[in-house]
Formats: sequence, C-alpha cells, structure tokens
Amino acid sequence: MPEYQTHEHDVLVIGAGGAGLRAAIEASAAGVSVGLVCKSLLGKAHTVMAEGGIAAALANVDDRDSWKVHFADTMRGGQYVNNWRMAELHAREAPDRVRELEAWGAMFDRTADGRILQRNFGGHRYPRLAHVGDRTGLEMIRTLQDHGIHQGIDVHMECTVTRLLKDGDRVVGAFGYERERGRFKLFRAKAVVLATGGVGRAFKITSNSWEYTGDGHTLAYDAGADLIDMEFVQFHPTGMVWPPSVRGILVTEGVRGEGGVLRNTAQRRFMFDEIPDNYKSQTADNEEEGWRYTQGDKNARRPPELLTRDHVSRCIVREIKEGRGTPHGGVYLDISWIKERIPNAAEHIKKKLPSMYHQFKQLADIDITKEPMEVGPTTHYIMGGVQVDADTQMSNVPGLFAAGECAAGINGANRLGGNSLSDLLVFGKRAGEFAAKFASKEKPGSIDNRQVDEAARHALAPFDRGTGGEGPYQVQYALQEMMQDLVGIVRNESEMKRALEGLGGLRKRAAAVGVGGHREYNPGWHAALDLHNLLTVSEAITRSAIERRESRGGHFRDDHPDKDAAFGTLNITVRKQRDGGMAVSRAPLPPLPEELKKIIEEMK
Ligand SMILES: Cc1cc2nc3c(=O)[nH]c(=O)nc-3n(C[C@H](O)[C@H](O)[C@H](O)COP(=O)(O)OP(=O)(O)OC[C@H]3O[C@@H](n4cnc5c(N)ncnc54)[C@H](O)[C@@H]3O)c2cc1C
Repeated sequence: MPEYQTHEHDVLVIGAGGAGLRAAIEASAAGVSVGLVCKSLLGKAHTVMAEGGIAAALANVDDRDSWKVHFADTMRGGQYVNNWRMAELHAREAPDRVRELEAWGAMFDRTADGRILQRNFGGHRYPRLAHVGDRTGLEMIRTLQDHGIHQGIDVHMECTVTRLLKDGDRVVGAFGYERERGRFKLFRAKAVVLATGGVGRAFKITSNSWEYTGDGHTLAYDAGADLIDMEFVQFHPTGMVWPPSVRGILVTEGVRGEGGVLRNTAQRRFMFDEIPDNYKSQTADNEEEGWRYTQGDKNARRPPELLTRDHVSRCIVREIKEGRGTPHGGVYLDISWIKERIPNAAEHIKKKLPSMYHQFKQLADIDITKEPMEVGPTTHYIMGGVQVDADTQMSNVPGLFAAGECAAGINGANRLGGNSLSDLLVFGKRAGEFAAKFASKEKPGSIDNRQVDEAARHALAPFDRGTGGEGPYQVQYALQEMMQDLVGIVRNESEMKRALEGLGGLRKRAAAVGVGGHREYNPGWHAALDLHNLLTVSEAITRSAIERRESRGGHFRDDHPDKDAAFGTLNITVRKQRDGGMAVSRAPLPPLPEELKKIIEEMK
C-alpha cells in the first residue's frame, strides 16, 4: 500500500490561474468546501504572464462597441467553427466580469474621464482590451488571489495531479504528489474542475512556461472525456528570435495596437501585400489610415498588422522563407518609428509597454524606443481541449468540469488576443457555479484502492528503472523538435504521418526512461511524469490535424491550402478507446440560431 495524505472537498479545482481562481471563488461563494491545487506557488500560474489585456465590450473608448460586435468578431476570428453558445455567453458576460474584477480592486489604466481604458488588438473591430500597461495578467491574478484568499479556499501549492479517480462513470477525486517532498496526496471530491492551461511545451519554440505540459487535457482524456479542436494550435506572430536563449518569449500584440509596424529586410510593410477577402472591408489600405486607427480615429480602419494571428504568422513565415527575413531568421517589428508622429515618443512607449521595454533591454540589449525588434512566430495557445457543455462547463464525464485554456469551444479555429482572459473570468465563474451545484446534489463517491495503488505504481516506475538508460529530457527535447518540424505552422499529410510514427517510437522511449535520486526536489522525476501528457496531446494534435483536410485558422496545410465548406460544419473529436488507442471522429456542429446568424450578417 502506498502512503498518502487524504484531503476531502466538495469541489476540487485543479489549476490556480485565472480560470481556476475564478472557479474556486464562485464555488466557495455557493457555500461548498473548495480545494485548489497548483503545480507552482499560488500567484505564479501562467495567467500572470498575460500582457495585452482582457477583451470585453465595455464601449468605454468607442461607443459603437457592443456584445454583438464582440460575438461577431469572435466567430469570424474562429472561422465559424466556434461553439456559438460559448461565443455568445462570453461576449454577453465579459463586461460584467471585468467590472466585478474592478470592484474587487483591479487597478486598470484609465480614460481621461476615469473609466477603464481599452486598447486595440488583432481581430477586434473596436478598442476593446481592458488593460494595465502590458502587465494585465499580473493584476488579474493579484486581484483574484486577494479576493479568493478570504473565501476559505484550501490551497495545495506545488502539488501535481497525475490521475483522476472514478467511481463508475463519475469522477470522484484525484491523485497527485507534492513537488517539494515527493509525498503522495489523495483528494476526494464530489466534483472536479480542470483549469490546467495549455500544451505549449510540446513544441520547441513557445511563449509558454514549464507548466504547460497538457496535464488537464490528458487527465480528462484518460478519464474518458472527449477532446475537440486539437488541430487548432495558435502560433503567435511575434515571439523574440534573438538571442537563442530567449527564443519564443512573447512580444505582445499590444505593440502593434500602439502603432508598431512589421517590415521585412527591404523595409517593406509586407502586411499590406495580402489582406484576406473577409477582412478587406475592415482593413486600412494605406499606412496613413492604419496609423490614424491606432490613434483612435473612428473613421479609420485597422492596419493589416492587426489582422488575426494565424494570418499574420503565415505572412511572416512567407517573408522569411522567401529570403526577406532578418539576420536571425525573423522580421522587424518597429514601434520606435512613432517618434516621427508624436512628441515624447520614447516616454510614451515606456509608459504603454513597460515590460516590452525592459524585456528587450535586459534580454537582448535593444532599446525599443530607438530601434526595431526582431520577431518570429512562437507556439502560444491551444484552441482545442476538453469538450464542455457551454452553459455549465461539464464534460461528457459526470462530475468533471473544465474551464480556461484546457477547455475548448469558444475560440474555434483561432483565438482573438484578449479573449482568453475574458474566457477565464466568464467560464471560470460558470464552472465554479455549476460544479458547486453538482456537488451539492451528489453523495461522495467511493474510491477503489486498486486505482490508488496503480496511480502510485505508475508515479514511482521511473525510479524502479534507475539511471542506466535514457533520461527524460532527451525524450522531451526529441518530441519538441519533432512537433515543431512536422506538425508546426505549415503542415502536410506525409510529414504528419512521419510524426505519428515518431510518436510511437517516443512512447517506447518514454516507457523506458529512468531517474535517480529520491523523491524530494527531483525535477528529472517530474519531467519523466510529464512525458505521458506531452505525448498524449501531441498525438491528439497530430491525428486531428491529419483528419482536417483543409486549412482554417491556426491549422494550415500546404497539401490542402484552401478552406473546405464541408469541414466548416464540424469539429474533430478524439476519445480514448477501451484498448488504449486514440479514436478520431467528426462531430457535426449544432446549427447557429437565426438571430445570431443575423448579427453575424449585420456585422460583416
Ligand atoms: C506571454 C503570454 C501573454 C499572454 N497575454 C494574453 C493577453 O494579454 N490576453 C489574453 O487574453 N491572453 C493572453 N495570453 C494567454 C493567457 O494568458 C492564457 O491562455 C491563460 O492565462 C490561461 O489561463 P488558465 O487559467 O487556463 O491557465 P494558467 O493560468 O496557465 O493556470 C494553469 C494552472 O494549472 C496548474 N496545473 C497545471 N497542471 C497541473 C497539474 N497536473 N496538477 C496541478 N496543477 C496543475 C498550474 O500550476 C497553474 O496553476 C498570454 C499568454 C502568454 C504565454
């Protein structure tokens, strides 16, 4: 029998980023007992890194904005394979969630008349991102944490969950280990909310931190939940490319929102060269108009640098591939040029983009108020994840809820910048509310000891194998390299089939990985346990991407470069089979109600 500590909660929330904290606050406010588990220290979740802002149609800067425009923008950005109900709820409820955050103490930047300031961002028709300089995530986490800490939530920090535990079909708990001491923990709960974030560490170049290893996706999949849209990975157009040690670190879209422009080595604003048909009417066709838009001229259209991320990334890749890239394999992003237009430009840039200024100064010795940055695409976000009911956030497994980046539906084929932070607030709240309701109605389940024994045996297996063979990092690096090369920004069937074969080989290598030492402070052991998650999400991405034989949003195939209307009516779903294999299927999207169709038409 393994030794473990047991904790009991009505609702267990796994993940303490924006979605997890918001879910925990809501469940606790409903009067149930709540446990909150996170891999790092409270306050260090990925959400803290968010820079640009929270998208919500507050209409503080442009009174033409409304939930309807936000809904239409989100659907267009997602290329109409979004879950329409989630997109509707998100657009309707985001303003209230932002005001609530303000009431809980968030210090947003302000308009001249004292309201929450909103900035321009890619794919949003009007200035819509409530922000705090370029440190919005930090303020969001601080506020949620300060508020949540007074709600009587039990926090289990530096604890990794490795298994969900079930009683029949229902999820009734989780098994994990303390990262510091290596001791095991068993959580009993009537409902579990997954809020574990994304999968970026499956790729070599990424803006994501070490925490993003696809844990929630894999926990849900292993427990029988469906994953959808896994082929839709977002490659953000602007990550740092130099020096190599910082490659992939994000350069916020806020730089372009404040007037930053993209140029190739010939100094050409190449984004004007290819404007997609469905955005032509909303996009400036000259530099002057684009500049006026960034300065708040309501009669101007957005510059093409603020087109959706999938498109901007592909244009950058084209420039680099065709030999017009920078010395370090990127393109130029220039905000310093605004000194030609405004007085005190350097001070203005430092005030609006303080983190970007420091990031480049300290990591690359570049002063962005004086010279351009070199940037290129970086793996940033996954639109795919656990399929949930739009209203309640429950998955197809009773008692298992998901919210935030590990859940899917709202973003379709491509997420608009800023829509994640609002997603966390809107659907984090809903997940907490409905998990609490579920828990209030249910009796605790029983957990069979064999499940716990098996989870403990699996966790200790890398020690049993010892250090004679390959270590976990070699397998992790090989996986990241392969996913980047074969299932990256531009895909095709033959490369992805090679990736599938490669994944088979990597699974065998992962099963043989061994570690030394003991369970205290042992990062090699943690990395060995992450491999199952990284391999599972990589397989789901690859199989789904092979199945979607078209190009849409974040998924671009050079063997099927166009959109295919038939694929515009369905999601790709993956589910674990009884024999452990991964089944891929096509699930029809529910039809869009007439009144929402009308909104989309009106906003075209
Ligand atoms: C640099 C950067 C800038 C961004 N800027 C913006 C922006 O301006 N606007 C916007 O809308 N979006 C932005 N995004 C995206 C956005 O930040 C994320 O999508 C969002 O924060 C995800 O929140 P989350 O609550 O789902 O997960 P996270 O904030 O990542 O939290 C995940 C939590 O789960 C825990 N966890 C994970 N696995 C386990 C496990 N096995 N056991 C226990 N705990 C676990 C982690 O410890 C963590 O607490 C940005 C992303 C990056 C990387």
